[in-house]
Amino acid sequence: MTGADYSGSMSTTALPRTASSLRFDNRFTRELPADPVEDVRPRQVPSASYTRVSPTPVTAPRLLACAPEVAALIGLTPDDVSVPSFPEVFGGNALYDGMDPWAANYGGHQFGNWAGQLGDGRAISLGEVLTPAGQRWELQLKGAGPTPYSRRADGRAVLRSSIREFLCSEAMHHLGVPTTRALSLVATGERVLRDMFYDGRAAYEPGAIVCRVSPSFTRFGSFELPASRGDLALLGQLIDVTISRDFPEIAAAVPDRDAQRAAWFLEVSRRTARLMADWMRVGFVHGVMNTDNMSIIGVTIDYGPYGWIDDYDPGWTPNTTDAGTRRYRFGQQAEIGYWNLGQLANALAPAFTTTDPLYAGLEAYVAEYTARSRAAMLAKLGLRTWDASDESLVDDLHALLHQGEVDMTIWFRGLADVDPLAPSLAPLEGAFYDPAKRARLDAPLRAWLDRHAVRVRAEGMDTTERRLAMHAANPKYVLRNYLAQQAIDRATGGDPGGITELLDLLRHPYDEQPGREAMAVRRPDWARDRPGCSTLSCSS
Ligand code: AMP
Ligand code: MG
Repeated sequence: MTGADYSGSMSTTALPRTASSLRFDNRFTRELPADPVEDVRPRQVPSASYTRVSPTPVTAPRLLACAPEVAALIGLTPDDVSVPSFPEVFGGNALYDGMDPWAANYGGHQFGNWAGQLGDGRAISLGEVLTPAGQRWELQLKGAGPTPYSRRADGRAVLRSSIREFLCSEAMHHLGVPTTRALSLVATGERVLRDMFYDGRAAYEPGAIVCRVSPSFTRFGSFELPASRGDLALLGQLIDVTISRDFPEIAAAVPDRDAQRAAWFLEVSRRTARLMADWMRVGFVHGVMNTDNMSIIGVTIDYGPYGWIDDYDPGWTPNTTDAGTRRYRFGQQAEIGYWNLGQLANALAPAFTTTDPLYAGLEAYVAEYTARSRAAMLAKLGLRTWDASDESLVDDLHALLHQGEVDMTIWFRGLADVDPLAPSLAPLEGAFYDPAKRARLDAPLRAWLDRHAVRVRAEGMDTTERRLAMHAANPKYVLRNYLAQQAIDRATGGDPGGITELLDLLRHPYDEQPGREAMAVRRPDWARDRPGCSTLSCSS
């Protein structure tokens, strides 16, 4: 974070407005209490869910990339995206009619400790689009300038992190993992000072802004903050608005208030469990699972120093800021999801007449996670029904993949090509990073393939059907850290083409995509220890 100069404008600029075909229906600002003060000086904001604040204009907004399917989702046509007003609005220099920009107020547990008020320090929601089909999409700029929640930082985001957020949001969606989406990536034409390695060598980097899109950006920490302040009126109001706005099916089905809250916490618990099972299925490591980065609607949110598993290692975290205890390592994400849900339950307790539904939710989390991760493992292994022996089949495989330094994505994808009548490692040779480890584990790996083949044969699924099912569960293309870094390097050199190329690739992660096999190979040696490819800091 870098010091910001607040001496210029303390109140937010009135931005020019322009017409659009979008219909805005801003329930968050309409139904929740606003901060009565509208300047951006850093401060505590009691008794309010948000502060009205406009984006701070930038010098030269330029559209670097757009996800056309997200534009279509909210009701923008390709023509709407190609006009000059698009980068103006999504770079923070103008507003569409009907937008009512705000920064949300929330707290959070960071790395296990209560951190008090945090809030949107560099995210500004522009408004809620209501589509003709009745879908609600909140549009939010990340990196749009200071808010009262910026503390000592500048409210901006750098190009490298913005490319990573843009690409990963879309990659996750196409993998079938719930996530916030990304509409656009706009270069600001301004430079941002960042100490990338936290070693005192701060340097200027190009700035950028991503427009994120989600039905809701409310976080676990949104509830923790009023609870921590004993503001039970605001806590109750936030719960009711959240249920009514973000969980309309529960609001409609359950009339009684207490029963509604119970059903809601159960649903939040289940969604969180499913999300964790999905992250584990595809090899995604969030890296900063603080409670302010946990979405109440159960989507992946806040892409920072995340990473993708290359060689299978449950102890791996991409986040250098977490190197000490590796709290947010790959293999601990399900436990952290549970811990975070526990913090949410604590915060919600005063709004519940009994704590039974909170305990029930926590139990449901465990059951749902177990069921979902079993189903995911069965699908990955090309099996249909869970057998008592599968627990050890899975555990033994994970141990072998770890010891053998085996690429997770390539292994599982290649497993579909192993013939259960004559199992061999031949289709899996591309997955090994270390020939010595491969040689040492030859016998146990082949023994494991034999056990797997016995299970496959016992189920007797048609070979073609099984291969298709395995391909649908095991992506061929994921956003390997080094691939994102290559797109970043190109964009920093002035050519943003790599971003759209990767977006195209990641739109069909489960398809073979002939001619693009080079994007499905294991991480090259040069990327093994390179910053951005293997490790990242929170500086973004
Ligand atoms: P994160 O670790 O990215 O989830 O951020 C934690 C808190 O710091 C949130 O309240 C962010 O809005 C805030 N924050 C992070 N980076 C910046 C920045 N460059 N400017 C202002 N606030 C920031
Ligand atoms: Mg965050």
